[in-house]
Amino acid sequence: MKFLMFGAPMAGKGTLANMLNEKYSIPTVSMGDILRESIARGDKEGVLAKSYMDKGVMVPTEVVCAMIKNRLAQPDVAKGFILDGFPRTPDQLDIFVKENITDIDVVVNLEVPYERLLERVVGRRTCKDCGYIYNTGWNLGYEICPKCGGEWGIRSDDNEETYKKRYDVYISDTLPILDYFKGLGKVVTVQGGAEPEQSYQNMLEAFKASGISGLEQFNA
Ligand code: AMP
Repeated sequence: MKFLMFGAPMAGKGTLANMLNEKYSIPTVSMGDILRESIARGDKEGVLAKSYMDKGVMVPTEVVCAMIKNRLAQPDVAKGFILDGFPRTPDQLDIFVKENITDIDVVVNLEVPYERLLERVVGRRTCKDCGYIYNTGWNLGYEICPKCGGEWGIRSDDNEETYKKRYDVYISDTLPILDYFKGLGKVVTVQGGAEPEQSYQNMLEAFKASGISGLEQFNA
């Protein structure tokens, strides 16, 4: 099964994708992570991408399209995946459709009130070693990553000022492409404003209500 996580930055796309991954071993493919890995390696694409990401604006279409095509051609995602962060603009959607980059079975559309998104941005921590996402707002007192013991990092674009820009870009560039997937009848809307476990349950209930089943195949 091929999932696309959709929603504003900080809606919880990565967190819910990781939870689905932990339970059903479905590989996650995050455009933002692919870009950050490229930055960490110091690739020329990464150096270019960083200058856009630090401003909260979109990395050029040709760069992200080349990266995602390469990633989706790997054998580990042949059976299915959870895609997060692509396509994200009308240009990317155009290429996605025309070049038949992949098909998508389910679009998980996370709805979260704006005030909650802003609260989350200041608390997000990302493990420097395994990428595990934590939020200090969950009040679990994790000083280090509970998964691998790694140190917490704070993303350079996780601050209120850059967030406001990222949110505006989401409204102007990304939200309109939801209509394309709605037209295909693939969108399942999930209330994502609660803490992760509750939002995850909301997602499973929304899948059930929409007749989506077969997740177990990934554990086989
Ligand atoms: P994210 O990790 O999804 O919040 O993405 C972080 C940043 O990476 C975004 O603010 C953009 O600068 C860049 N980015 C992620 N996905 C895309 C995409 N599909 N197209 C262009 N830029 C992207």
